[in-house]
Parts: sequence; structure tokens; C-alpha cells
Amino acid sequence: MSKERIYDYHHPAAGWGALKAVGIHLKHSGAPLSNVRSLLKMNQPDGFDCPGCAWGDPEHGSSFEFCENGVKAVTWETTAKRVTPKFFKSYSVTEMKQWDDYRLEDQGRLTSPMRYNRATDHYEPVSWSDAFALVGQHLKALDDPDQALFYTSGKAGNESAYLFQLFARLYGTNNLPDCSNMCHEASGTGLIEALGIGKGSVLLDDFEKAEAIFTFGQNPGTNHPRMMGTLREAAERGCEIVAFNTLKERGLERFADPQKKFEMARRGSHRISSMYLCPKLGGDMAAIRGMAKVVFERDARDGDVLDREFLAKYTTQFDEYRALVEATGWEVIESQSGLTRDEITQAAEIYIRSKATIICWAMGITQHEHSVATVREIVNFLLLRGNIGKPGAGTCPVRGHSNVQGDRTVGVNEKAPEWFMAALEKFYGVTLKRDHGHDTVSAIGAMRDGKCKVFIGLAGNFARATSDSNVCEQALESCNLTVHISTKLNRSHLVTGKDALILPCIGRVEIDAKPDGSPQLITVEDSMSMVHGSAGIHKPASKELLSEASIIAGIAEQTLGSDVVKWTWLAEDYDRIRDHIAQIIPGFHDFNARVREHRGFWLGNPGARREFPTATGKANFLAAQLPVAVLHQKLAKKQGWVTLQTMRSHDQYNTTIYGYNDRYRGVEGQRRVVFLNKADMARLGVTKGQWVDLIGIEDDGVQRRAESFRVVEYDTPEGCAAAYYPETNPLIPLDSVGFKSNTPNSKSVAIRIVPSTRIA
Ligand code: SF4
Repeated sequence: MSKERIYDYHHPAAGWGALKAVGIHLKHSGAPLSNVRSLLKMNQPDGFDCPGCAWGDPEHGSSFEFCENGVKAVTWETTAKRVTPKFFKSYSVTEMKQWDDYRLEDQGRLTSPMRYNRATDHYEPVSWSDAFALVGQHLKALDDPDQALFYTSGKAGNESAYLFQLFARLYGTNNLPDCSNMCHEASGTGLIEALGIGKGSVLLDDFEKAEAIFTFGQNPGTNHPRMMGTLREAAERGCEIVAFNTLKERGLERFADPQKKFEMARRGSHRISSMYLCPKLGGDMAAIRGMAKVVFERDARDGDVLDREFLAKYTTQFDEYRALVEATGWEVIESQSGLTRDEITQAAEIYIRSKATIICWAMGITQHEHSVATVREIVNFLLLRGNIGKPGAGTCPVRGHSNVQGDRTVGVNEKAPEWFMAALEKFYGVTLKRDHGHDTVSAIGAMRDGKCKVFIGLAGNFARATSDSNVCEQALESCNLTVHISTKLNRSHLVTGKDALILPCIGRVEIDAKPDGSPQLITVEDSMSMVHGSAGIHKPASKELLSEASIIAGIAEQTLGSDVVKWTWLAEDYDRIRDHIAQIIPGFHDFNARVREHRGFWLGNPGARREFPTATGKANFLAAQLPVAVLHQKLAKKQGWVTLQTMRSHDQYNTTIYGYNDRYRGVEGQRRVVFLNKADMARLGVTKGQWVDLIGIEDDGVQRRAESFRVVEYDTPEGCAAAYYPETNPLIPLDSVGFKSNTPNSKSVAIRIVPSTRIA
């Protein structure tokens, strides 16, 4: 591990730093040569889909269609290290619980199915058939199927995700929590209310036509790095890029494209954003409201700013929204957003100058109490100038996990629409219950309260991804059985139910063979609703591994038998699963043929055709009051408190920690750091480099502490602090969630900062 250092980072995003990081991670994988082969097949039409984020693939991309963090994701999976039965014999669960997330996953790939033996406190080998039978026994022993939970992480491909939701529903429950409950749930909810579909309306080539691109609460330099190339091309051709982010993120300032040899040779780079505003946490809605106010003021003065034809033909509730905007005072807008009227006006003028505008957003928008209303405000703002359903314009919630959007599309949804449930019933000749199931936060509550007793996780690291970590861990440990279908060792495996299984699966980069040895094709859906195929290229890490779909089929056979669904037959050839999907979900006709066309196919988006399948048949404005006060306003007068946002470092992907560096923010060799504004440090009486403890709200008797963080002075608005998750997830109360989305408020966490008892 590199030495601990805090420094000022002066370089652009990507560039030589990215190449150096790629080299380090190729070497660290212990299989550099075979991984060079991986990189040449990554995101290629005949290759595999990067298990990283859900940014789209260009129609005609380059031979190097990957970024630094994509390389980390792939080499992390293709590591030469192995976690074998011998490994589990050497280390007890209690012992491994002392290890941090990086050390756990860095042990390597799981090789064999393992069952926890509470008496020895060790995981021990179990056969696949015994493992499937054990899960079947536990599920059949439950008084009610609603005592079981089926959690899905966005890494799961469409075919295994479809099989997983089908199994849960035929078993008798809609308890299908998934990772999008913690990330873009507010986007889906807000977009469905406003436009009738919960997905972004733009395609990648819309970025080539946009005259302005606004990005809110997103850090593409780390979380969607190939987006940097798209933004750079837009900036080069004069498209105005306006960034709203509480933190100054290097990726939104300057970018050096490693594929531009001359630029790299002269250590050059290109500006990304033409304007960068740092609203306070939770202040984006007020900022957008302010820009809408300027649009109305300009239209009143000049008369040609609003797209009146579009508004009249395609929208409802416009007058109500206008009246509310005009009634919203600048004082409220400035104090809540933390921005000045002048700054907001300049940004609005960029919007007014543009004939085609795209708005992108991520967690900085979706992890607040009022996130659904903020997503609605984004749509309101776009509608004013008809920026939906025309080239170069529209909505773009940029998804985190490579197939999080696909999983929801193929039915992983605790509150699935009636048409989907009816289609399943008709196709399989069954009757399905309609009660909504548990999402991620309510699932934890249900386990805590003894209402759920079996947890089955399809990929992911539930115990580390969720809020209120101590509550979550106790909830999981109260279960009769916990099951994790995983590729690598992680902390969730160590938070065992009374009985526990680790079921190791084939990875995205590995060959998943049919019984005849020919390779299977899985499919994924990116943030632009493009569905494409992915076929691994490497031999699986162990002969014992099974595919996600085969594991689900094995459990389903043991639990339900195969009278209604021939689970194993489906899992033996994914074309069969896709045939089922094609007959149940609109947009997937001729699925098997179309997904094998170049770059797959677009699922379509009615908004892109200016069709809005809402209750009104039109795009709906929402005239929502701004919150009376967001957290930073509520805490401003509370001595010792600040608003914390939890976030990723540059060496991290969701809960997967690839290393201890956060290059663009000048952090090396450590993760327990808290970024603070200079004035807040003085107010709190702490100094640079000082060790502090972070204490959350504890008035419900739950201890919420994260200890030993080093203070880092950083360019963040007063009252707004930042630190990495999962280390700070224990600070977020389980019931601190978004209205309607039920998503943890991970970007607005009330904390106190006190000197640490830790000695330097
Ligand atoms: S941008 Fe996302 S999908 Fe593309 S290579 Fe990077 S991590 Fe993977």
C-alpha cells in the first residue's frame, strides 16, 4: 500500500495518471498478458460488456473502448488470486471480520460453494446439490413466502435477473429489492410521473448534436469515465457544458484523452465545463427553480424564450408551474442553493442560448429527501424550451451499475406494473399476488423486525451497500439463512444468518458454456436503453463455478420443481430465456436475432418521439414547493454539526475498493478522510490532518459512529462535508429516506465532528 499523503492534484483527469493506473492494476491482477487480451475485447461488439458502469458504447468505437476504472473492474475479476476451501480453513469468519473491504476482496476469486459452520466459525465445502437442497428446505419451511427476500445487484445480466424475479414470483413473493433502490429510484419515479417512462430519453449521438449539456450531482471522471470523451468532443465543437456539483471534480474541469498521442506527448488537455457551480448539498432543486425563473423573466422581456407550440401541444400544468416559479423568491433560492442570483442567471442564459439541451444527473440529485421533486424540476426546466424528443436534447440519468437499468426492465421490481404481472400470469398459466414487496430499506426493517428470515443475494455486497450498517448487519444475522451468489469474497459473506451459503459464480469476463460447450451470450441494457450482448473470453476461475442462471435454476428446482417452468432447461441456453422475455416484455421482439446485430438494439423511448404514456397522455409539469429547509439550512445554527455526503473515491466502484488512492482529490494511501470547508474547520475547532470521529443522529438509541477520520481541507461549500462509503454508511439512519423513492439520503447526512480518541 502506498504511503499516506494528502496533496494538491494539478493534472487533468485521465491522461498519464490513467495509463499509470492501468499498468498498476494489470500488474496487480497477476495475469497482465491475458488481461491485455481482455482489454481488446472489452465493450467490443464481439466481446464482453464492462462490468463497470452503464455508459453507452459508440456505434463505431475505437479498438480501445475502455477507461481506467473499467480496467480496474475487469482486472479485479480476472485476478489470478483464489479463495479456496483451504483459505476458508485457515481463516475464521470472526477473524476475517477485522479485515477492511479492500483486503477481503483482494483475496481473489471464490472457487467452491461453501456453507458456514457456526460451531467451527468457518466456512466449509458443500456440494452444489446439497446447497440447492438446503435453500429449498429453508424456503419451503417458511410460514409465508413473504418471509424471503431476493436481492439483485446491477451486475446481474438480463437472463439471470429475469429468472431470479420469475422464481421469486412463482415462489409467492414480490420481495425483490435491488441496488437501484439506493441509487436512481428517484429518477425512475420522477420520470414516470412526468413523462410516463422511468428511463433517460437520449442516445449517445444526441451528445453530438446538443448545444448545451448540464450535469447535476455527477462525477463522470470517476464514475462514468468514457463519458469524458463524449463531453470533450462536445466542448471542442463549442457545446456549452455547465456543471453543478458541490465538489470541484477534476473530471468536469479538464480532461486529457489517453488516446490522443500528440496531446499526451505535450502533456496537454482540454477544458470540459464552460461554467462550474457548487450548490450546497440538496440545493440543486432551488438552483434549477432559479434558472426557470430567469427563463420566465427573459420570455416576459423578449417574448420568444418559451417553446409555446411544444408547451401547448405536449404538456399540462404549465400555468400552475409558472405561477409557482414567479412566486418563489430569490432569497429562498439563493439561501437553499448556496448560489448567487448572478451565478444562476448566467447558467440560465446558457440554457436560453441553446436550441438543444441535455441534462445529465446522478446521485447528487437522487439521494436526498426531495429527490423525486428535484427530478421533476429537471424535467420542468427541459419542457420550457421543448428539450424532450428532439435531436440533441433530453433527459440522461446516468446509471451506476452496468445492468441496473436492464434488471428493472426484465422485471426486478418490488412494485411491478400490472401489465407485466398479467403478462407473466398469461404466459406461465399461473396466478400471482399483486402486493408490493420490500425494497432495500424496507427489507432491512423486515429482517430487523423478524418478518423476513431468508435473504438471497444475486451479486452485490448488501451489508456494505446499504445505510445504517450496524442495523443492517444485525438484521442479516437474525435470518435463518443468508445466501450470496458472488464472484469474490466480501463483508456480506461474513454477516451470516444462522445458516449461510456462499455460491460462487462465473464472472462477466469468463466463458459461460452451454452443455454442448458452446459459449452463452448474456445481455445488458445501458443508460441509453441500448440492449447488447456480452460473451466472456476467459476460462472460469474454477471448474466448480456455475453461472448465475444455473445457480438460480438449481435452487428453483429444489424449491418449486419444474412443472410450471423448466428451470434447468432455460438455464442451459439463454436464447430460451430471451424467447420468454420477447413474448412478455414490449420492445424485445426477435430478441435473439436483434441482439446479435452490430451493437444490439435500442429499446426505444416514447419521450424521444414526444409520446408521453402518462395518465394525461402528456408531459406533466409539477408545481412543487421548494423544501421549507434542506439539511444544510437546518444544521446551520446547530453548533458542531455539518451536512455530509457519502461518495466514492477514484479507486472504488460502488462497494468494491480497488485501492486506497483518490488521485483527482489528492488523497493517497488512505480512505478514512473527511473533506471539510476551511471556515467549518475553524468553527468546529479542528485542523488539517487531525483525527476526528463522525457521529450521526442517535436519538433512536442506535449508535451511529464512524471513527478515526483525518481532516482534509477541501473546496466544498460551507456546511457541506464529504467522505467515502461504505465506511460512512453507519451514519445514515435507516428511516432517513427520500419521499416516494425510499432511497437512503446518502447525500444529506447530519453529523457531528468531534476530536478522535485515536492517538495519531
Ligand atoms: S466508462 Fe464505465 S462501462 Fe465504460 S469502460 Fe469505464 S467503467 Fe466500464
